[in-house]
Amino acid sequence: MHIVVCIKQVPDSAQIRVHPVTNTIMRQGVPAIVNPYDLFALEEALRLKDRHGGRVTVLTMGPPQAEDALRKCLTFGADEAILVTDRAFAGADTLATSYALAAAIRNIDRDAAVDLVFTGKQTIDGDTAQVGPGIAKRLDLQLLTYVSRVEQVDIAQRRLRVQRRAEGGVQVLETRLPCLITMLEGTNEMRFASMDNMFRAARCAVRIWDREAAGISDVSKIGLKGSPTVVSKVFAPQARARRAELIEAEGDAPRDLALTLINKLFTRNPKLRDAIVAQPS
Ligand SMILES: Cc1cc2nc3c(=O)[nH]c(=O)nc-3n(C[C@H](O)[C@H](O)[C@H](O)COP(=O)(O)OP(=O)(O)OC[C@H]3O[C@@H](n4cnc5c(N)ncnc54)[C@H](O)[C@@H]3O)c2cc1C
Repeated sequence: MHIVVCIKQVPDSAQIRVHPVTNTIMRQGVPAIVNPYDLFALEEALRLKDRHGGRVTVLTMGPPQAEDALRKCLTFGADEAILVTDRAFAGADTLATSYALAAAIRNIDRDAAVDLVFTGKQTIDGDTAQVGPGIAKRLDLQLLTYVSRVEQVDIAQRRLRVQRRAEGGVQVLETRLPCLITMLEGTNEMRFASMDNMFRAARCAVRIWDREAAGISDVSKIGLKGSPTVVSKVFAPQARARRAELIEAEGDAPRDLALTLINKLFTRNPKLRDAIVAQPS
């Protein structure tokens, strides 16, 4: 079984800086981690490999330093890592990102047929949750979103059953392979890196693909050129003027609490008290 897990290197804080002119994300100086949702996807892929054999390839599109994120995944047990990197990808929106990743997966598939693609539910920086569905659409794969557990894979029958968290409950869905799963958070716990894998990750050659090696000839579909999304403004929302307040009642009874609240309300709004008092009983 060949599983591809798409992982993204993201800034390790909520303090993402945005370029004031281009509105693109500036990564310089911000410590980077593997997008946490993607680790749930990787762990689920590794569990499938433990059960059914095969191999797990981790794939990312990003700047050269994204190699660190791939090496981290190798320490957990991924077998192979591919970094798709080229200046031509700079400024990609989700449409261009899913185009480039889909092309890379097509390339991987030519080498060794891909049965399953995992992505995280979303990233903690871009936060759109669009890239997984975008890849599935481009590769014509069955799409399973918000998956909390892969229940069963029948490799002979090319079928797979998953649990999907939906509003008000859990759906059990079955589909055919190959398919793409976007994995929910908190569904499993990432294993510890083993010493063997740490040594292997340090030595293992990460495959680096530029635009051509990734099988992309049409440059109008990648980078800024292939990105129709325009970020017109980025701003922090203003804090609300009113905040929640803890009010302690004089006594324990509900009547005491009600009286305290009414007194507070009338103190803040004397006109309301006058209007109520003036009403004929
Ligand atoms: C106009 C525009 C310009 C932008 N310019 C830049 C820029 O210059 N630099 C920059 O860093 N970002 C830029 N971005 C943000 C960038 O487009 C998104 O980070 C990227 O498209 C992924 O979207 P997302 O983070 O919302 O991923 P989501 O859709 O939330 O991700 C879902 C899942 O898809 C997978 N995934 C997402 N991205 C990747 C990836 N790159 N490699 C592998 N797997 C992935 C992961 O498994 C992830 O959990 C720009 C966005 C816009 C709209």
